[in-house]
Amino acid sequence: LPALIRKKRDGHRLEEAEIQSFVRGITQGTAQQGQIGGLRDMDLRMLMAIRLRGMDLRETLALTRAMAASGRTLAWPQAWHGRLADKHSTGGVGDKVSLVLAPALAACGCKVPMISGRGLGHTGGTLDKLEAIPGFRVSLSPEEMQDALERVGCCIVGQSEELCPADRVLYALRDVTATVDSLPLITASILSKKVLGSLHPLVLDVKYGGAALCPTRDSARQLAQSLVSPGHPFLSLSFSPPVPSLSFTCPFFPGQGLRSRRAFWGADEGSPGPSTSQCPAGGLLLWQCSLAGSAEQGQQLLGAALDNGSALATFEAMLGVQGVAPNTAQLLCTGAPAQRWQVLGQASIQEELKALQGGWVQQIEALPLAHVLHRLGAGRERAGDPINHRVGAELLATAGQRLEEGEAWLRVHHDGGLDEEGRKALQAALRLSPEAPSGPPEFVTETILP
Ligand code: URA
Repeated sequence: LPALIRKKRDGHRLEEAEIQSFVRGITQGTAQQGQIGGLRDMDLRMLMAIRLRGMDLRETLALTRAMAASGRTLAWPQAWHGRLADKHSTGGVGDKVSLVLAPALAACGCKVPMISGRGLGHTGGTLDKLEAIPGFRVSLSPEEMQDALERVGCCIVGQSEELCPADRVLYALRDVTATVDSLPLITASILSKKVLGSLHPLVLDVKYGGAALCPTRDSARQLAQSLVSPGHPFLSLSFSPPVPSLSFTCPFFPGQGLRSRRAFWGADEGSPGPSTSQCPAGGLLLWQCSLAGSAEQGQQLLGAALDNGSALATFEAMLGVQGVAPNTAQLLCTGAPAQRWQVLGQASIQEELKALQGGWVQQIEALPLAHVLHRLGAGRERAGDPINHRVGAELLATAGQRLEEGEAWLRVHHDGGLDEEGRKALQAALRLSPEAPSGPPEFVTETILP
C-alpha cells in the first residue's frame, strides 16, 4: 500500500490489479478488525491521495469493478427482466424522494431493489431515515431481497458484509476523513452498487447547491458526465437543486407528515404530500419498463398511485418485510399524528424560530441548517456513531411565501444544546427579499442522457 500511495500521490495512474489490491485490503482489513470505523492510517492516506490527485476513467472503472466484486452479485428471475428499475441520488439535504419513489414504482408494477446509503458529510441518508422506524432492517441478504421483491415489489437496503462490502467500508471512512467530495470516489461508490445485479433502467439524481455534494451546477455536470460515461445503460440523469420547500428530513424521518394518504411523507402538518413533480424521474422509468406508453403517462400513473393509496400500502408492506412489526407499520402509515409521534419518538424540545423582519422568502439555505442539526446529534462525527433520530427541523415557510416579522418559519426538534450561536446560524439561513419572487423554484434543471 505505501508504494501505491506514493504512486497516486505523485500523480500516476494505478493499474487495475493495484486498485483491486487496495480494495481487497480495505475489505479484508475491516473483516479482521470486525469494525467499520477501524481506520488505518494507510487507508486514510490512500483516500486522501485519490481525493487530491483524482482518477481517470480507466481507474474509476477499475475501482467500480473491484468494489462491486467485493461481495455477492444479485441475480433476479428472468420474468422480472424489463421491469426492474432504480433511482439513486448523489445526496443533499431534505431529499426524501427514494422513500416515495420506490414504493410508488412498485405499486405501478416495477421491481425496485434499491441499495441506498447513509448520511455522508452533512447530507441526509435514506438508510438513516428508515432506521428511525423501530425494527427496520437495512441489511437484507440477496435471498431476503428477492423475497421482498416477490411479495412487495421493492426494498431499500444498505451495503453489507454480503453486498458491496468495500463500499460499506469506504463510505464510512470517507465520511470522517473529508474525502466525500471526490468525483471518482462518488462515481465508484454509486455505480458499484448499481452493477451488482442485471443492468436495468436507472435514474441518477445529481443534486447541486450549497448543501449538496456538488456546490455548483458545473461541478454537478462534471459528476453527471463521470457517472454516465462508463457506458452503463443509464437512462437519464437529472439535476435538481436542493429544494427549499422540502422539509429538512435528514435523519428526522418524515415526521408527522404521514397524516393522510395524500400527505404521506409530507413535510409537516398541513403541507401537501409528495407529488409527482418531486419524482420527475419516475415516469421515465415506467416508460422504460414498458409499463407506460410515454414518460408523461408514467407520471400520471405514479400520481394515481400516490393519490389512491397504493403507494402508501406498498410502503407499509415494505416496512413489514424489512422487520417492522405490523401494528407499528400501520400506525406509521395510517395512524393519527400523535400515534406517528409515538412510533418515531419525539425530541424533548420543539423550538420555533421567528422571522426577525418581514419580507418574501427568497431562499432557506440548507447548509447552515444541516450543520446546526449535525451538532445537535443528527449526524455522525465518527464512523459508526449513533444518530439521534429525533433531532431535525420542520420548515414552516417555503420559498416565495410572505413572512411577517415575528412569524415562525422553523421548528427545531432537539434534546438540548441549541445555543445562541446555533440560533444565529439558523436565522442567517433565512433569506428574505423585499420583492416577491418571479416564479416557483425549479425541481429539475437539466437532463442528461448517456
Ligand atoms: N451516494 C453514494 O452511494 N455514494 C456517494 O459517494 C454519494 C452518494
